[in-house]
Amino acid sequence: MNIFRPARRRHLVLTNLIEADWLWLLEHHPILSGLDTTDLERLKELVVLFLEKKTFEEADGLNMMDAMKAVIAIQACLPILNLGLSWYRNWKTIVVVPKRFTQNRRQVDRSGVVHEWKEQDIGQSWNKGPVVLSWEDVEDSGWADGFNVVIHEAAHRLDLLDGAINGRPELHAGMSPQFWRDVFLAAFQDLEHRIRRGLRTAVDPYALENAGEFFAVVSELFFEQPNFLQREYPDVHDLLVQFYRQDPGQRL
Ligand SMILES: [Zn+2]
Repeated sequence: MNIFRPARRRHLVLTNLIEADWLWLLEHHPILSGLDTTDLERLKELVVLFLEKKTFEEADGLNMMDAMKAVIAIQACLPILNLGLSWYRNWKTIVVVPKRFTQNRRQVDRSGVVHEWKEQDIGQSWNKGPVVLSWEDVEDSGWADGFNVVIHEAAHRLDLLDGAINGRPELHAGMSPQFWRDVFLAAFQDLEHRIRRGLRTAVDPYALENAGEFFAVVSELFFEQPNFLQREYPDVHDLLVQFYRQDPGQRL
């Protein structure tokens, strides 16, 4: 018996699926507009590899179809288009649930009082564990309107790669961690100030949860509405261009 057969068949099936649905996927993802043929070729290769190497699990009664996996894969692969799939080496599993899920939260404050509450979650990223995505919100992602749960969770994975979610992924040679910290901190404080004063901003206030959420939220905006980010926080935008090695504002 040829032990390589099952794997090769799986590869072919997925490749065929991508071939058949590729145009549909591109049409339904305005955030991919303006990618040239070379970029699209590379994106397609990444999507096929992503589908092959990552494990998808359905939960809470979701019936997952191949096309749904492809929708998640194509959005997850955009941030690593010029980085490569090895940047997701700490990300093995994607669990997909039908809609937003309720999380029990617990926090002990400085005076020792325990606070417990329930919160609606649309996505989650566990250290070395799976990424959990709400399908309802995946469907709302990729339309170039600023919201993208897949890219948000993907950004957490990239951030985690150096061991901690701290809003700073592993930087490329020549990029200064101190400069990154300064730029992101200044933007964080400015956003805090804007929100407090009720000023308009394109950045989701959820970014103010912590530095890790700030990086994930601005990454969403960077790929969905880069010009808004560039206008509000040009230094953050420029650092993301350097880190992701692409400039969506040039093509969208
Ligand atoms: Zn987050």
